[in-house]
Amino acid sequence: MARKMGVYAVMGYILYGLFIYWYLFYFADSSLPFEYEGSKADPATFLNGRELMLSEEYSKIRNLLFFLSTPLEWLFYFLVLLFGLSKAMKNWAKNSSKYKLLQTAIYLIWLSVFAYVATFPLSYISYSLSKTYNISTQTFTSWMKNELIDFWINYGTWLIIVPVLYWLMKKSQKRWWLYGWLLSIPFTLFMMFLQPVVIDPLYNDFYPLKNKELETKILVLAEKAEIPAQNVFEVDKSKETNALNAYVTGIGSNARIVLWDTTLNKLNDNQILFIMAHEMCHYIEKHIYFGIAGYLLISLLGLYLTYRIMNWVIKRWGNELKISDIRDIRSLPLFFMILSMLLFAASPFTNFASRYQETRADKYAIKMTHNTEAAITSFQALTRSGLSQVNPPLLVKIFRYTHPTMLDRISMLEEYEVKQRNK
Ligand SMILES: [Zn+2]
Repeated sequence: MARKMGVYAVMGYILYGLFIYWYLFYFADSSLPFEYEGSKADPATFLNGRELMLSEEYSKIRNLLFFLSTPLEWLFYFLVLLFGLSKAMKNWAKNSSKYKLLQTAIYLIWLSVFAYVATFPLSYISYSLSKTYNISTQTFTSWMKNELIDFWINYGTWLIIVPVLYWLMKKSQKRWWLYGWLLSIPFTLFMMFLQPVVIDPLYNDFYPLKNKELETKILVLAEKAEIPAQNVFEVDKSKETNALNAYVTGIGSNARIVLWDTTLNKLNDNQILFIMAHEMCHYIEKHIYFGIAGYLLISLLGLYLTYRIMNWVIKRWGNELKISDIRDIRSLPLFFMILSMLLFAASPFTNFASRYQETRADKYAIKMTHNTEAAITSFQALTRSGLSQVNPPLLVKIFRYTHPTMLDRISMLEEYEVKQRNK
């Protein structure tokens, strides 16, 4: 039975992969609606032939990798259960130590290492693709160093969560999901607080803006919105990528705006001021807090569903998956699998909410700076530097886009310009 289920799962994954491939490469149409042809959102007006061709090609492969990688994780966890690897890892952990907590740590390290190895090929392809298309500038060593930091941060985080989770399951078989969720609130807030000062500096250097002339202009803008000067940072991203970006991170006294040095080096001052004004909107409208609140709400529903689905699966297929009891650490791959599936299912909603915030930030930024030329050319530069699609296929937009498409963003600016002119 287990072997049959395994074959079905692998076949299902392959069929899904073929469907996505067909959808992205043959079915989906990412050409521009004709009314936008020749407009400033039309990539043919600001990319050269080579860039046009590369951006289509690169985006298609990127999208394919995106859609393949998350379900690959599900397949991995499913097979780990099906073929008794979870059971074996628990036994290895048991034989290595008599302390419960240490056993959990050992089980978790095995599971993390196997999961990493299973997903490594896709991450590596993704990295080398980005390198081939001249987006990433990272050496393999530097990329691998980031991968290892990711690995240990993930491991450390789960090492805090998993023992608490299984302890709660033992204490209350019916309410563990609720208590787990309540504990996740202070934990999430604490992690968000630490992110910019403890975690991010493990990867990059953060410092006040290097270009002092530009800094003065940016701080004048920031002052208008009452954002303190010491909360604006530059980060050394140029050692990793040619892409442009900026973001708001952290909560409380650690809230800050971070501008990638690539953005500062490649855009002119007016373009940078537009990007900065966009980030300022996120900062002053506290989009991060709405994000956290939304995430916590979804995770309450998610944990409840995980609890229901886990019990149902174990009752129905406990034998095949070699899990007799949810409270046994052997059920952890099932927990990860269901959680990842629910997160994927929720992503159209969270992306939609994020696109709403991003649209607000774009509108705020143009009202603040009034320079549509700078705004539009900055979006064009963003598109060029990341070889991104201006008008991605629908499924890509729904599952991947936390920002409106460049078609939406640039045409919004064009409409704004027309309205201003007619005033
Ligand atoms: Zn934004």
